[in-house]
Amino acid sequence: PSTYRGRRVVVLGLARSGVSVAKLFHKLGADVIVNDKKDRESCPEADELTALGISVLCGYHPDDLIDEHTALLVKNPGIPYSAPPVKQALERGVEVVTEVEAGFWLSPSPIIGITGSNGKTTTTTLIGELLEAAGMKPIVAGNIGLPLCDAVDEAAPDGWIVAELSSFQLKGTSAFRPRIGLLLNLAETHLDYHGDMEDYVASKRKLFANQESGDTAILNWDDAACRKTAEGLKSSILPFSLYEKLETGVCVEPPYNRENAAGTDDAPRSIVYRDGGEETVIMAVDALGIPGRHNTANALAAIAAALAAGAPAEALAKPLEQFKGVEHRLEFVAEREGVAFYNDSKATNPTATTMSVRSLKKPIILVAGGLDRGSDYMELLPVFRGLKGLVALGQTKEKLLKVAELAGLANAQSVNDEKDAESTLRQAVKQAAELAEAGDIVLLSPACASWDMFASYEQRGSIFKQSAHTL
Ligand code: ADP
Repeated sequence: PSTYRGRRVVVLGLARSGVSVAKLFHKLGADVIVNDKKDRESCPEADELTALGISVLCGYHPDDLIDEHTALLVKNPGIPYSAPPVKQALERGVEVVTEVEAGFWLSPSPIIGITGSNGKTTTTTLIGELLEAAGMKPIVAGNIGLPLCDAVDEAAPDGWIVAELSSFQLKGTSAFRPRIGLLLNLAETHLDYHGDMEDYVASKRKLFANQESGDTAILNWDDAACRKTAEGLKSSILPFSLYEKLETGVCVEPPYNRENAAGTDDAPRSIVYRDGGEETVIMAVDALGIPGRHNTANALAAIAAALAAGAPAEALAKPLEQFKGVEHRLEFVAEREGVAFYNDSKATNPTATTMSVRSLKKPIILVAGGLDRGSDYMELLPVFRGLKGLVALGQTKEKLLKVAELAGLANAQSVNDEKDAESTLRQAVKQAAELAEAGDIVLLSPACASWDMFASYEQRGSIFKQSAHTL
């Protein structure tokens, strides 16, 4: 990083991570230029940077943004590689990275990096709780909120940075090396950005690309694509599984039966860590604070990470019992006239929705639909067969209703009288509640991103919660 002193660093995209990385390079003495296509009025962060003496250009990408003086381009993960400044930089041979790469360069702490299609935030938060309980000074950062370049300021050599990483962030890494890397699962999401599954999988696998022997790769042994990632890695593999008894790894005993996906087999089970011959029982599955088999998988992954980081096995059960999950992820909202409302607004792809529906056992009326990212909604067919009702909204509503029809779901409807986003969702909740009887569940688990109607999944989830409370 010190090689950038006095040299030009261009930061593309003025979001939270852009501000963080711009400040960091400015502090290191680099000549930082920040550029965003948005108007200055839409970039409230610009003033703070300008006050520090950082050049901020808003409203357009100047043609000569990248020139012979540019030493590095740090781009926001969401900006495509086809954006003109990124193309120019690549043509000129300027290194293009994302903010997490710069964070890695500057981190005094070892990093635990968590990626996967689903379960990242839950698992990242849980690892933070486990290390905290073991007194290991974790800082939770990355895609989850705090930019890595901010986290490195507080990080210490005897602590850990626990970083949630999206495929977009990983695609822009080069030397990034987590001492412990976790790949939770690989589902077909984000195809609009990555173009195809191969590019997406390749981005996720970059997590392990620079690992050395002594580092750990934690892989979901139940997911064939994750398992394949183990091939050719220098690091030690620590697998986790719900369905297999592992010689070495973290698993469930007795293993679940893959065929019984509905999870109706309620035999008591334990979570165990096995290291060759040695076996340590961590806790009972039933004692976990988070519901659903997918969350048990997240817990297995988090346990594996904590053990790999050196946390004592006996320190894990208590925080695992206490952890009740993260807002907007299968979050219990309220019970109204015997009907339970759950907010799972963060379920932004069909796989996530499938997992959530399977985690809840009562009759479910699902509220779903949102931004059309070209996912395969037919994946929801088996889930829709088991629903009591569906209220569809957003861009994908027709596609979802089509799947419902194929599933023979009689109680499938779209929102009557669509208005603005908020009243449409309120109306959807009302219609779902009308389909429900005491003992049923109304679940918002959209299977789609929120940006067709809402600013964020958080906003969508919050409106859902208010609607449930004020029905
Ligand atoms: P991410 O950060 O990867 O989006 P979250 O932890 O925020 O993941 O969970 C988002 C949603 O994904 C949850 O509401 C749940 O429906 C689903 N989910 C969580 N963990 C898993 C998992 N291991 N496998 C499949 N789906 C999951």
